Amino acid sequence: MNALSRRRGACPALSAPMETGDGLLVRLVPADGIFAPRALVGLAHAAQAFGNGILEVTARGSLQIRGLTDEGIGPLNDAVTALGLVPREGLAIDASPLAGIDAMEIADARALAREIGAAVAAASLLPRLGPKVSVVIDGGGACPLDASKADVRLLAVRSEAGVAWRVALAGDAAGARPLGAWRAREAVAAVVDLLTRVAALGRAARMDDVLRGEATPFASVDPTLLAGPAASSFPDPHPQTREGADASAERALSASAPKTRPGPLHLHPLADGTLARGIGLPFGALEAGSFIALIEAAEAAGAREIRLAPGRALLAVGLTRNGAARLEQAATALGLLTEATDPRGFIAACPGAPACASGRLAARALAPQVARALAPLLDGSFEVHVSGCAKGCAHPAPAALTLVGRETAPATGLPSLDSPTLDFPIALVREGKADGAAQATLSPAALVPILTRLAAPGRHPGETGAQALSRLFAQAFLERSA
Ligand code: SF4
Repeated sequence: MNALSRRRGACPALSAPMETGDGLLVRLVPADGIFAPRALVGLAHAAQAFGNGILEVTARGSLQIRGLTDEGIGPLNDAVTALGLVPREGLAIDASPLAGIDAMEIADARALAREIGAAVAAASLLPRLGPKVSVVIDGGGACPLDASKADVRLLAVRSEAGVAWRVALAGDAAGARPLGAWRAREAVAAVVDLLTRVAALGRAARMDDVLRGEATPFASVDPTLLAGPAASSFPDPHPQTREGADASAERALSASAPKTRPGPLHLHPLADGTLARGIGLPFGALEAGSFIALIEAAEAAGAREIRLAPGRALLAVGLTRNGAARLEQAATALGLLTEATDPRGFIAACPGAPACASGRLAARALAPQVARALAPLLDGSFEVHVSGCAKGCAHPAPAALTLVGRETAPATGLPSLDSPTLDFPIALVREGKADGAAQATLSPAALVPILTRLAAPGRHPGETGAQALSRLFAQAFLERSA
């Protein structure tokens, strides 16, 4: 491996580690999405031996080891092979973490992922697609993939005619553009067709670029391909191009969507009568010793496998109710997240200084204090991002509130919530990314007291945390300028 074969910003798979401010980073997703508990213990030892000894689970549910050197990559590869892990290759397809075993799922997302992976390979698309192009497949089960962005996303829905896959483009569940719904065979063909359009624009292209270039979205798609034999049973795939279809398509698409889904940090019934228990890693990271203790506690509780889940969590699979209770106790003792309401679950933080050379802020060390300070508002209606620098590794998308270490004051004339003359001020960005325009600056010493004071009044009855945040910030700035 040499530096030329690495790319900043590309998916840092084991075969192509990415350079970061704290050395090389590798991301590991097993081809079948399943880790044997012993394999995870082995990986934790490898992280201690060759990396910085911290294991991370990302917001999309991938395992990361960072702080690696060039010399450490070969031995890490050997360790992964010896542990019997087969990393995912080819197109990045994220399937529901409990796919195939979830008692609540509508369809097995992993089975569809295999079909799509094979069809994309057969169409020779892989060399023509960029490394960031991704597909998300949500089987409609207990752990939604709503927050994971993708070029193409599929969600299992029920219709009178059986199971269909709703296809949407370029975004997360809330922002992606709906296209239509098809049975599995036609959905696979549709995904290949859509990715062929991305590939035709070059390796830097994403689905957004395809959408921008379509005057009438997908009017030119071969109707026999996208409509398929299920066209009479499922919503029209071209609501904009077929008169009279809009209302029925809309009805079918919305009425059949999965309703309330608990998310990973719960106890989940599985199809075989056993249970899966989700445990969250605070800010997505855990030191190897604690990680090993967690996995051994899961093993002792009867877990036969571990799956990683979006939202920086892992799921211990195959438990009895007693085993799940024992694991929960062990996780609590390790300071991990067992409740979906834990305020730490709504904060993303990178390692920051001093672990990362680019860090201007001790982001991960500050994050627990930020969680405590903002706890009265953190109800899951918004996310906070604590970032060591403007690169924003932990949360590339905009967040409601971003606290970012910057080398210099971002601009003159900005309101400072305390002293304005600091070497490394913290910039406060509202509804933006870590490199977005700052609305105010803060000193590291003043950050926690100011956030605590700001959030203390809490929410009004009926108000969400996001609404209260907006109100309290507006009030704070008003008071400063008065
Ligand atoms: S965002 Fe954090 S991890 Fe990424 S380069 Fe900056 S300090 Fe390092």
